[in-house]
Amino acid sequence: MLVPLGRRSCTDEELRRRKRELLEALRREGVIRSERVYRAMLSVPREEFVPPELRCHAYDDNPLPIGCGQTISAPHMVAMMCEEARLEPGHKVLEVGTGSGYHAAVMAEIVAPRDQPRERWGRVVTIERIPELAERARRTLERLGYADRVKVVVGDGSLGYEPEAPYDRIVVTAAAPDIPRPLLEQLKPGGIMVIPVGDRYLQYLYVVVKREDGSVEARPVTSCLFVPLIGEYGWKEKGV
Ligand code: SAH
Repeated sequence: MLVPLGRRSCTDEELRRRKRELLEALRREGVIRSERVYRAMLSVPREEFVPPELRCHAYDDNPLPIGCGQTISAPHMVAMMCEEARLEPGHKVLEVGTGSGYHAAVMAEIVAPRDQPRERWGRVVTIERIPELAERARRTLERLGYADRVKVVVGDGSLGYEPEAPYDRIVVTAAAPDIPRPLLEQLKPGGIMVIPVGDRYLQYLYVVVKREDGSVEARPVTSCLFVPLIGEYGWKEKGV
């Protein structure tokens, strides 16, 4: 994989400045629309979720490699998905595709804000098919104080995660050929799912709303490019 060349060391002060600049730019561009998402992204240190040699690039608005052929999504995509999911404190969220754990941490800051009493906390359940990534994400999340707000499980997330269902929100961070039926079933009536759907080379990010009567409405919001969702209701093999 092509690793961006650049500086290998930078101060915490510099990272803080670059983070502010990035978040301000995303706000100006209308990608970040709520104070909730802004504050959540401000409080999560993305540099702790990327490989150490890419630390200085943590606040470039790009996906970055995280090993095992996978990537951490670009900050604008994380922001957009959080906004479109309309996350609220108290929500129980399923994330499919833990990767580095970064997106799960951002969502945890929204559904279970540190400054609110624990009784009002929601939770993020995140599922990853590659055990090595899941383990690394679990350790990072624990080290940064997310252990009681984020649960990391290993498995095929195209099947959802039945033991914790139903969910207020489902956020899928890998590209599916279609909307997996088990995910629709595990979404609460009135719930929202955000999911990239398409082929290997181009997808659209869909916002899927499950109405109270169980009917479903799916609306594309932007084109995007994610790594494939591999599993029973995803692609059968890597690289299809
Ligand atoms: N949200 C992540 C980025 C995810 S990249 C972050 O913040 O870093 C997509 C991830 O989905 C990859 O780690 C990939 O291994 C995982 N994945 C692909 N198919 C999956 C499946 N069926 N179930 C669970 N995880 C899957």
